[in-house]
This record gives sequence, structure tokens and C-alpha cells, in this order.
Amino acid sequence: MVYDVAIVGAGFGGLAASAELSKHGKNVAVFEASNELGGSAGKYERNGYRFQSGATVGMGFEAGGVFDKLYHSLQIEKPPMTLLNPIMDIHMPDRVIHYFKEKQEWYKEIERHFPEAASPIQAFYDEVFYVGSLVDQLLDYRPVFPPKTIKDWTRLLPMVNTSSLRLLPYMNQTVYDRLKKYKLHQHERFQTFLNGELMDSVQTSVEYCPAFLGYAALQTFHKGAYAVHGGLATVAEQLAGYVEDKGNEVFMRYPIRRIEKKGGHFILHSKRNSQFEAKQLILNHSVHNLADTLTEDLMKQTTIKQEKEEQRETWGAFIIHAGVDASVFDGTDVLYHQFIDPEHPNDLHDGGQFLMSLSDAEDTQMAPEGKRSLTISTHTNLEQWWEAEDYETKKQEMTDRLIATVDHYFPGFEAGLDLVLPGTPVTFQKWLRRSKGKVGGYAPTGRYSWLNSYSVRSGIPGVYLCGDTVFPGAGTLGVTLSGLTAAREALR
Ligand SMILES: Cc1cc2nc3c(=O)[nH]c(=O)nc-3n(C[C@H](O)[C@H](O)[C@H](O)COP(=O)(O)OP(=O)(O)OC[C@H]3O[C@@H](n4cnc5c(N)ncnc54)[C@H](O)[C@@H]3O)c2cc1C
Repeated sequence: MVYDVAIVGAGFGGLAASAELSKHGKNVAVFEASNELGGSAGKYERNGYRFQSGATVGMGFEAGGVFDKLYHSLQIEKPPMTLLNPIMDIHMPDRVIHYFKEKQEWYKEIERHFPEAASPIQAFYDEVFYVGSLVDQLLDYRPVFPPKTIKDWTRLLPMVNTSSLRLLPYMNQTVYDRLKKYKLHQHERFQTFLNGELMDSVQTSVEYCPAFLGYAALQTFHKGAYAVHGGLATVAEQLAGYVEDKGNEVFMRYPIRRIEKKGGHFILHSKRNSQFEAKQLILNHSVHNLADTLTEDLMKQTTIKQEKEEQRETWGAFIIHAGVDASVFDGTDVLYHQFIDPEHPNDLHDGGQFLMSLSDAEDTQMAPEGKRSLTISTHTNLEQWWEAEDYETKKQEMTDRLIATVDHYFPGFEAGLDLVLPGTPVTFQKWLRRSKGKVGGYAPTGRYSWLNSYSVRSGIPGVYLCGDTVFPGAGTLGVTLSGLTAAREALR
């Protein structure tokens, strides 16, 4: 059998692509190395708990959002989910900021916590909402970016309109540049808050974040952030189910070890000498990993310069999956909590700031009765985890630091823990095959860094890329858009 399209990796990018192709009647096969769907937004189960492998916050499920439209076009029902309002609580050394979804409530919260600068902060947020909506309009076109072919350029033309021209001033400035305009660049507390939100969504801080990207991410929180019941893995399972219902195949525990081109088709080599043949490919196993599978000859045809790729800035994640007595969080309905280390409030990574996502008390798939499942994650520098001698010590120290910080804000947390499973970049490489544990795509490094994106075109005819290392980048929402764009191009 020769498949129309083979998809490598059942992350959100690969699953969105395969669902879209299945909808169009294509004969596709998805190959997933692990025994779980969803990759960085997947799950695993242990001792009666369900843990989310990385991503926890669902975006794009509101009416007109990326997932809302996808579910609608596939004619499947969205899973049950809890709309978050507040989106999260931010625990700072001297206060808790409730990050409200609704603009009016959020503006009142700004007045409560930043009375001396409420007007400029609200004006800054007006700009966030305005620019964010302009970016949304552009993403609706699902451009291939950066453009490579004449078709890509022609597709960009309709995007040149008054809305996109209004976006230009925000494409050559950072968020920090914009803060200067509002005289907020020296407002430490507001920047600590903003950096936390930007690190969670764009993987970088105000100084390095292109303004339009940061704004798009910030406004997305306010359009609707959700805790999907059963975790985001539920979405992955639905997409894979759709692919199978259309008569296509999802091969679990089928790592693709080598891909070569023979006689005009692509041959995928997997376990026990199995081979599969396809006319086209969509690769969802990240640009970091391409050289592991493509033959040298195919690799040379790509637009990716391996040496440059390896030097690009990426984060790893340190993660704790834990089970805890539900009573520890009796005092709050809020599911997502961001913590600022009281001793080091300006550290943006390695435990200085981190997110804790609690399972919904009503969500019985996530934890045994009377317990909650939780995920704590902080950005981490990668190199330190590959120095073997003190790996276990470092892992324990980081675990202790994160638990102590939560315990500081929620006394009794440590005593209420039932199961604690820490993971490092080494874990992400082992289970999700992310090379060196690099996750979440490339971190923006300045006002023009968005121009360095990789597009869905690999450079090899018939081979497309999708996932968080490809435009429009990180987050399940961006990754899904890249999968849909790759599918559209494969359908041409
Ligand atoms: C700690 C953490 C927290 C995050 N939080 C959020 C959040 O709250 N909200 C949000 O929207 N996003 C979040 N993200 C980002 C989001 O999870 C990712 O950007 C997104 O899930 C990546 O999807 P992807 O399609 O690029 O592929 P991945 O998720 O990397 O999936 C790729 C898949 O390919 C498989 N694979 C790899 N190599 C092979 C091979 N050779 N053969 C077959 N299969 C292979 C892997 O096993 C994996 O399943 C978070 C990420 C992390 C790490």
C-alpha cells in the first residue's frame, strides 16, 4: 500500500494535519513512537492519577477560535471543559493578583494592584487587545511564512490591507519598547507580572519579545483559557479517533528511524524492519530531530542549516507531576497558579517563576476521589541537565525548591503530597524524543527574531513540516495552525 501522506509524530501538529487530510478523503497513516497521543500536550497515568505531559492550558476553544473552527469543520463535539476566570492567580511575595479574563474585571484588578500606574497600564492593555485582534485577522489567512514560492507570496498579497499596515509599527519593536512609550519600563512589579505571562506563552521576557507576538499571546488568554476535562490529551484522542473513523491508520509505538526517497516515493523505516511507503510526508517530530530520521541526502535538500539550528535559543522544562490531598486547595476555586519565588522574584526560569496547574475537582478522570492531580513546570537551561555527575542532586534540589515555594503560598502543600514525579529535559528526550530535551519551539530573541521562523516547507518537494519549531510556533494553538497549513499545502 502506498499512502497519500505519511505523518511522523502524533503531537497536536501531526494530528491536526492528519485529521484535515482525512476530512479531504486522503489515505494517510500517522506514526507515533510512544504509546501516548498528543506529545508535549499528551498524558500518562500512574497510581490512579492522570498527568499532563507538558501543556495544560487550552486556548482557541472559544467561538471562532482555532479549535472551535476545527471541531466544527470535522463535525465533532468539543470535550467538556472549564472556562478559567480568573485565568490564573499570580502569587507574588506581597500579594496575589487575580488575572481576570474579562477586560472590565481585569482593569479593576489593575487599579487595585497598580494604583500609581493604572491609567498607563490600562492604555497598554487597550493596545494589546487592539494589536492582538489585528494579528488574529492575519492568522486567519494561514500564510506560509516565511514565503518561499511565488504561490506563498501571492497568498500574502490579500493580507496587505489597512489592518496589516496598522500592524507594522509593532513588528519592529519589542514589548519593552512599547512599555517605554507608556513610561512603564521602570515599573518593576508590572514587568515581573508581564514577564511571567510572556514566559508562559512566548517563552521570553519583555526585552526580547517582538511586540505583536507578545500582544497576540496576551490577548489570547482573555479570549478564553480552558481546563479541558481529561487534559488536552482528550483533544488528541478525539483527533486520532476521527482519523481512524475515516478509515485511516494511527500506528502507536512505531518510531520512524529512517526516511529515504526511492523511485519517487518516500520509504519510512520503523521497528522490526517494517517499511511503509508514501507519496508525501508531514513531519511533526520537530526541526530539532530532523537529522535523526532523514537520510543525509534528503537533509541536504532542506532549508535547515543544522549547525545554525543547534545554536538557536530554546528552553527545556523542569516538571513535577504530583498527586495531592484535595483539602490543601479547599480555599480556592482557581485551577492555575503562577508562583514568584519570594527570595528571587526576578529569576524568570529554573524555579524563579513557575506555573502550577491543578486538575478540576469535578474531573474524575484526573485523580482518585479526595485527591487532585497537578503539574508544575518551569523553564530551565538545558546544558546543566546533561552533566551526568550531579544530575540526581540537581533534580532533587529543584524539586525541593519548587515544592517549598508552593508550600510558602499554600501552607500544608508539602504534607499533603501523595506522589511526586519530577522530570527534566532528559525525561523529555526519553519519552517525547525531543532532542536534548528542547521543548516549546524557539524563544524569540529580539524585535526581528520572528523573521527567522521556519516555514512548513522543508525545501524537499512533497515534504512538509509542522509543530512548535515551525511558524507560527509554540503552544497547541500555533502548532495546530501549522498542522492545518501543512495539510493544505500537501493537498494542493
Ligand atoms: C512544560 C510545557 C508546558 C506547556 N504548556 C502549554 C500550555 O499550557 N498550553 C499550550 O497550548 N501549550 C503549552 N506548551 C506547548 C505545547 O505543549 C507544544 O508546543 C505542543 O504540544 C507541541 O506540539 P508538536 O505538534 O510540535 O509536537 P510534540 O508535542 O513534540 O509531539 C511530537 C510527537 O512526535 C513523536 N515522535 C518524535 N520522533 C518520532 C519518530 N521518529 N517517529 C515517530 N514519532 C515520533 C513524539 O513521541 C511526540 O508524540 C507547553 C509545553 C511544555 C513542554
